Amino acid sequence: MMDDITYPISGACQCGGVTYELLGPPSMVVACHCRECQKLSTSAFSITAMVSAESVRFRGLMKDWSRVADSGNVSAAKFCPTCGNRIYHYDPNEPDKLKLKPSNLSDTRLIQPTAHVWVSEKQDWFQLPAGVKTFERQP
Ligand SMILES: [Zn+2]
Ligand SMILES: [Zn+2]
Repeated sequence: MMDDITYPISGACQCGGVTYELLGPPSMVVACHCRECQKLSTSAFSITAMVSAESVRFRGLMKDWSRVADSGNVSAAKFCPTCGNRIYHYDPNEPDKLKLKPSNLSDTRLIQPTAHVWVSEKQDWFQLPAGVKTFERQP
C-alpha cells in the first residue's frame, strides 16, 4: 500500500499559511504514545514521519517552541502561528533530521505507523496492531 505512494506529496496546515512538499519517502513512520504526544495530538498518540531536511521544501512563516525531552535532548518544534498546527519536530543538534507531522500531507496513506513507541504510556483501549515493532519507551 505504502509502495503505491508517488512523490512529491504536498502538505498544508489547517489554515494554509504553511505549505510544503515532501520529495521522497520517510525512513520510518512512528506512533508515539507518550503523555507529551497525547497533549500535542489532542488524541491518544501522535504520528511522526522521519525524513531528511533536504527532502522537504517549506513555504510560509513558522514559529518555534522547544522542550527538554526525557533523554535530555532538546525537542524543538515548528508550528503555524495562525492555526497552531504542528509542522515538524527536530533536535537542534541534528538539524538535518526532521520529524514531520504527516497528517498534514494530502496523501493520508502515509499516516500508517511501522513502529509504536512509549507503549508503556499508551491508553488501555488502544490495541497494538499485529506485525509492527513496539517499544516500551524511546528506542
Ligand atoms: Zn496554519
Ligand atoms: Zn511522544
